[in-house]
Amino acid sequence: MLDQIKGLHHVTSMAADARQNNDFFTHKLGLRRVKKTVNFDAPDVYHLYYGDEVGTPGSVMTYFPFPNIGKGRHGAGEVGTTAYAVPKGTLPFWTQRLTEQGVTGLKQETSFGENRLAFDGPDGDSFALVEAKADGRPAWTRGGVANDEAIRGFHSASLRLKDGSATEELLKFMGYEEVDAAGNVRRLAVKNGNGADIIDIESVPGAAFADLGAGSVHHIAFAVENRAKQLEVRKALLDTGYQVTPVIDRDYFWAIYFRTPGGVLFEVATNEPGFDRDEDTAHLGEALKLPSQHAHLREYLEKHLQPLGA
Ligand code: ZN
Repeated sequence: MLDQIKGLHHVTSMAADARQNNDFFTHKLGLRRVKKTVNFDAPDVYHLYYGDEVGTPGSVMTYFPFPNIGKGRHGAGEVGTTAYAVPKGTLPFWTQRLTEQGVTGLKQETSFGENRLAFDGPDGDSFALVEAKADGRPAWTRGGVANDEAIRGFHSASLRLKDGSATEELLKFMGYEEVDAAGNVRRLAVKNGNGADIIDIESVPGAAFADLGAGSVHHIAFAVENRAKQLEVRKALLDTGYQVTPVIDRDYFWAIYFRTPGGVLFEVATNEPGFDRDEDTAHLGEALKLPSQHAHLREYLEKHLQPLGA
C-alpha cells in the first residue's frame, strides 16, 4: 500500500461558457481565481483554476470552457459529486445565498452523519457543500463570503460506477481505507491527508454510462508532495499493470494520468511548484499566463478568448 497520496489535488471539469463559469466560482461561491491560462493540449481553450488564496492542493477546481460543447449526461463511469467543506452551522447561510444568486438544484440532506447542501454547477455539474468536522484550512475571504462561512477546500469527491470493486481495490492500493458505508455508497479516506481526504464510491449497476460534456468532470487529480514521490507512485502503478503516462509538465504542477477500471481518468499531481511560480500571490489569476510552448500565440489568444468580466 502506498503512502505518498495526500488527498485530492484538483478536480477538472468541462464548461460551455467561460464568463458564466468564472462568475459562478468567484462571485457565487466566493472562491479565488488563482490562474487564468489555456489548455496546454488545446491552447485556444481557457484553463481556469479556482481555489483558496494560493490554490492549495485540495482546494482547486479547474475548468476547460469549450464554447461549442454539448451538455454532458450524468451516468456511470464518472465523478459524481464534488463536495466542498464549509464550517458547521453554515448551511442556512449558504441556502439563502445560493437561492438569492439563482443557483438551482438546492437540496439539503444528511449523509454519513453530516449535513450537506447539494446544488448544480453552471452546466448542471453536481456539487455539494458539507458541514465538516473541525477543518483548520484557511479560507479565501476576499470573494464576498466571510471567514465564518467560507469554503475551506474540498471535502470529498464521489465516483459513480457500475461496479466499484476494482476501483476500490485501486484506491486501497493508493493508500485509502474504507471508513464507512451506507446504502450503495462506500466511503474511503486517506490518513494524514491535506483535508480533501474522502472518496465515496457509489455503485450504480443499472445506470447507463455517462456522456461527457459541459458539466462533466474530465478527471480527478490526487496530490503528492513532490516529483520524487510521484515517481514512486508511477512505478508502483506500472508494476501493478496500469498504463500510466510519462510525467508531464503542467507549469504549476507535474502530472501523470491513468485510466481506472471504472472508467474515471485519474491524475497524480505534485504540490510543487504551485500557482505562484509565475505571478505574485497578490495578483494570482489576473493576467493570462501562457506556457512557453504557446507563448507565441499570445496576440491571437488575447483577441479570441472570451473576456471573463470582473
Ligand atoms: Zn488535472
